[in-house]
Amino acid sequence: MIKDYNKYLEYKNGKLFLEDVSLEELAKEFGTPLYVYSASHIRDKAKAYKEAFKDADFHYALKANGNLSIIKLLKEEGFGADIVSGGELRKAIKAGIDPSKIVYAGVGKTVEELKMAIEAGIKMFNVESSMELDILNDMAKNLGKKVNIAIRVNPDVDPKTHPYISTGMKKSKFGVDIKTAYKEYQYAKSLEYLNIVGIHCHIGSQLLDVSPYIEASEKVRELYDKLIKDDFEIKYIDIGGGLGIKYKPEEQEPHPSDLKEAVYPAFKDIKAKLCLEPGRSMIGNAGILITQVQFLKDKGHKHFVIVDAGMNDLIRPSIYGAYHHIIPTNKKHEESYIKTDIVGPICETGDFLAQDREIPVVERGDYLAVLSAGAYGFSMSSNYNIRPRAAEVLVEKGKYKLIRSRETYDYIDYDEAIL
Ligand SMILES: *Cc1c(COP(=O)(O)O)cnc(C)c1O
Repeated sequence: MIKDYNKYLEYKNGKLFLEDVSLEELAKEFGTPLYVYSASHIRDKAKAYKEAFKDADFHYALKANGNLSIIKLLKEEGFGADIVSGGELRKAIKAGIDPSKIVYAGVGKTVEELKMAIEAGIKMFNVESSMELDILNDMAKNLGKKVNIAIRVNPDVDPKTHPYISTGMKKSKFGVDIKTAYKEYQYAKSLEYLNIVGIHCHIGSQLLDVSPYIEASEKVRELYDKLIKDDFEIKYIDIGGGLGIKYKPEEQEPHPSDLKEAVYPAFKDIKAKLCLEPGRSMIGNAGILITQVQFLKDKGHKHFVIVDAGMNDLIRPSIYGAYHHIIPTNKKHEESYIKTDIVGPICETGDFLAQDREIPVVERGDYLAVLSAGAYGFSMSSNYNIRPRAAEVLVEKGKYKLIRSRETYDYIDYDEAIL
């Protein structure tokens, strides 16, 4: 049922609509490939989080989708920002998010990026190494401004997701293990320009089962108790993001309340405020990528549908082997099916959106809707093969708005500027 992906998605007389806007009409007006997002879906997600976690602070993880209009929408819902780069800091501020609601993680923050964030006066640096503590302290001192920090702890739990997006295991580059973290907190205390305000933890992405959060929370709680005993004032416990979404038809999407059930036992009786950094679960199933069929190719043993969206537009199938459900925007051929690979125009064999997939027969010119494309879709897109990146449209209750125009060839010819 497509409504299980996004309740605003439905067929009406065989045509696919999102929030009462025809996706085929949008494709005709703005061209393809085209990203379309449902504002009501995003708002519903924000409300679901706010209802599940009554007194928490929410920081939307910009890397899932950094479109300015999307960030603004979440700002309206009371969300702050979780950033991982100077570019994201700028975007968050441009969207009107107050720096006191911005948290900054990442293993490789540069001097330039740290400076931007210190000057902006952000809520909290989620520090990922001992060396970063020293550099941050030195820079804060030079700039004459104290900064708030949390140490990102790596609780060594297996989130049972794709290895590339597992971030809380011993072998990953993120954070410091719990034992070391305790020592780092003691060390950080000696650094004059650092205010220790929190503990941070983010174990991975696309978690469909919330049980790894239980284990991670228990470990974070243990550390919290030790720090409190040592007179640290821990104001925030930031449990990161990571809640999964439905990609495959047989998958069921966990609800923010499931996450709450998992983490509350460890934290219900503490003074510190919980912080969350949801990304994918806010926007993933709000978004659809519309692509147009260019050619059909039958090689006897293998059939291909060649579309105009490639791995430069949506790279998740290529790098994670990710499944995206793909449906026609017009149900005219529902009676006959083909088994096919749906591939893009890029000169790579890894350029596919689906492999050995049964879909209703399509013709040249038809449009296909790639579901669950709102998170890590446009934000991971590139100009590979010198292709302009797609346009983005936001729909809400029968209305629509272009929120990023299609890149022009002039825009991507940036190297010309220095010739
Ligand atoms: C990517 C990331 C998130 C968001 O993860 P989702 O799985 O998209 O919810 C949150 N916090 C940090 C530190 C991240 O790197």
